[in-house]
Amino acid sequence: MNRKTFLRQLGYVTAGTILTPPLLKLTKQNGPFFRMNSDIGYFTGRGGTIGWFVTPDAVVVVDSQFQNSAEDFISGITDYGTGPTRILFNTHHHGDHVSGNGVFSSENYQIIAHENVPILQRRVAEAQGNIDSMVAAEITFDDSYSIDLGTEQVTARYYGSAHTGGDSVIWFENKNIAHMGDLVFNRWYPFIDLEGGASIQGWIELLETVAEEANRETRFIFGHGNVDFGVTGDTSDILYMRDFLSKLLDHTSEGLTAGQSIDEITNIDQFKEFPDHQSAGARLSLTANITAAYEELSSET
Ligand SMILES: [Zn+2]
Repeated sequence: MNRKTFLRQLGYVTAGTILTPPLLKLTKQNGPFFRMNSDIGYFTGRGGTIGWFVTPDAVVVVDSQFQNSAEDFISGITDYGTGPTRILFNTHHHGDHVSGNGVFSSENYQIIAHENVPILQRRVAEAQGNIDSMVAAEITFDDSYSIDLGTEQVTARYYGSAHTGGDSVIWFENKNIAHMGDLVFNRWYPFIDLEGGASIQGWIELLETVAEEANRETRFIFGHGNVDFGVTGDTSDILYMRDFLSKLLDHTSEGLTAGQSIDEITNIDQFKEFPDHQSAGARLSLTANITAAYEELSSET
């Protein structure tokens, strides 16, 4: 799926025009920066939420959105910090999280991601015919990658297939804050990228593990969130997403066991247990989610 298609699914593109979604309030100069405390925060811009952390010596950024919003971010982050050590993590390979990579790399950011991210990114770029403009992580890891910044330990951790085949969670351990990438679509029907290696069952287990590793005070940054619930939250939101995915698999599996067709299994407007979930277009809908669950469950048998 190309970037424009994904944006259209998020409801950002209409008739060829890129619209600012209602939850993202762009300012003229620096874009929308939000602080979570004195040295860490997030930037909504356009696409997957960027996370940022600054020390006198370093700037650590999570995800790069698109070229234009990455430029807005780069010009605005100087109000918060400009340390010589510059690091960008990519949580996964989707276009709304990596298309600003070139902007960061020209500002001497080192890009780090799970080893599957450049592979998946290359596959998408080849399919779209834009391999020449692809900028991918040069430092990769298979299990986890930690950086000691003195006052803060930043750790990227891979938990197996979930939203894609290459998601990692970026933990700011001393701050007790984690960036979840697209492992949480906060009260939105998520994109489940089976072609890109997703696993709903793996996703459920990942969220369970992350909730166990966190505590009641842990704060999370989410790749996407609906206008009512936003792009930050706590462990209860992680478990809510886990419960939604569990319901998705249970509903689909019950239909399969009863011998229902995919049309019958998808003939539902919403799960009554999850009334807050919103759809952002046909591919980010309950029907699309059930269809993905159907494919995953069918491929197991
Ligand atoms: Zn994604």
